[in-house]
Amino acid sequence: MTPKEVLAYCRENNVGAVDLRFTDFLGQWAHTTVPVSMFGEAVFEKGIGFDGSSVQGWQRIDESDMLLLPQPDTCFLDPFTELPTLNIICNVVDPITFEDYSRDPRFIARKAVNYLKGSGVADRAWFGPEAEFFIFDNIQFDQTRNAAWYHIDSDEGPWNRGTDLGPNSGYRPRYQRGYLASAPVDKLMDVRNEMMQTMIDCGLTVECQHHEVGSAGQSEIDLRYDELVRAADNIMTYKYIVKNVAARHGKSATFMPKPLLDEAGSGMHTNLSLWKEDEPIFAGDAYAGLSQTAMYAIGGILKHAAALLAFTNPTTNSYKRLIPGFEAPINLAYSQRNRSAACRIPVYSTDPATKRVEFRCPDAGGNPYLSFSAILMAALDGIENKVDPGQPLDKDIYDLPPEELKDVPRTPGSLAEALAALEFDHEFLLRGDVFTRDVVQHWIAHKRDQEVESMRRRPHPFEFCLYYDI
Ligand code: GLU
Ligand code: MG
Ligand code: MG
Repeated sequence: MTPKEVLAYCRENNVGAVDLRFTDFLGQWAHTTVPVSMFGEAVFEKGIGFDGSSVQGWQRIDESDMLLLPQPDTCFLDPFTELPTLNIICNVVDPITFEDYSRDPRFIARKAVNYLKGSGVADRAWFGPEAEFFIFDNIQFDQTRNAAWYHIDSDEGPWNRGTDLGPNSGYRPRYQRGYLASAPVDKLMDVRNEMMQTMIDCGLTVECQHHEVGSAGQSEIDLRYDELVRAADNIMTYKYIVKNVAARHGKSATFMPKPLLDEAGSGMHTNLSLWKEDEPIFAGDAYAGLSQTAMYAIGGILKHAAALLAFTNPTTNSYKRLIPGFEAPINLAYSQRNRSAACRIPVYSTDPATKRVEFRCPDAGGNPYLSFSAILMAALDGIENKVDPGQPLDKDIYDLPPEELKDVPRTPGSLAEALAALEFDHEFLLRGDVFTRDVVQHWIAHKRDQEVESMRRRPHPFEFCLYYDI
């Protein structure tokens, strides 16, 4: 849509408010709302001001004024407001120079795409994220001075973890057997359908929705792939809809990667393919129908994976998911059929247009603009420097004897490790000024101080179990 078309759309739909949205450094949507009477064509050029110093991780107080520039091709009617409200995604710029703000994640994503185009390798990067999440009925936190305890209920389970004994599990997903369950075992069909339809109404293309493996309400809704910036915009809209539809049903949805001990975690497997002049350049006659270019892209992703995970798996909780036994990747290897490998090459179809690499590490706990940009930069580094990904690992990695695995690197064991890897290995992100040094340093500092260290200082509930009566 052009600015004029947006305004006409507002009139036709009796829009009363326009909601300007942007993604903060950590990946949360922030917004400010104006009455439609204040929203004319000039706003698309002059922007709307806000205080950047109050946004987590942004401007210093002495240079706090910033502008939001609405992007007319991103708008959709908010499905949850009583007053008809048009949501519109914005770029963040300096009020004097109108230069893009270097810590605006959407700007970083736009630079990544420009860098790709300038490299001559490809002109389009398609991203297909598959986000998983849990839907819970009741969550109670008891945040005492010394420890946080929590209790989670789900209509569906979890019941009888790993055993046939325990309370009656009739019409509930059995332990780790929720995948594709149908009603009445699946109690979330209506909720997921409503999420799916709301996404479609907001302009997203949904490919499917289903119950996931986790027996306590784990779900997945898959969006169709899109170009990098749009795919990240889509994930922001997706998460907003999942959370708000769940809330409408008196439930609560979480993208936290590992909310439950000994249950499946929630990933956001990210499918990547590159195209040049309308041709897929990941299809060819190398391994699993890939091109040599795609093999090098895998080489780059695996080479930089430890650092990459600081963006794609950026929570302390992310590393509780990356353990054996739950279809989450644990080794930095690739394979065409193996879900325990970090990179999988899906073989559902032989059509070259569908050829892609599925990077299975990411989760939805981060900033999709930064995650997708970092993945693209790692893949490009692999392509430009012809990084050999080594041999595929077409075995169930969880069951391999240690001697066969000794040369296969592991995913980092903690956020602290991933941040240390990023500190050491980030030149590939700085090419073309896509990630600035400031962005990388600021990310590491924020994650270390606010998350790793804050977590480390806290007595953990399980420590009471281990140590209270020692
Ligand atoms: N939930 C699994 C994960 O943590 C993935 C299951 C699947 O293959 O869809 O990555
Ligand atoms: Mg999937
Ligand atoms: Mg899945």
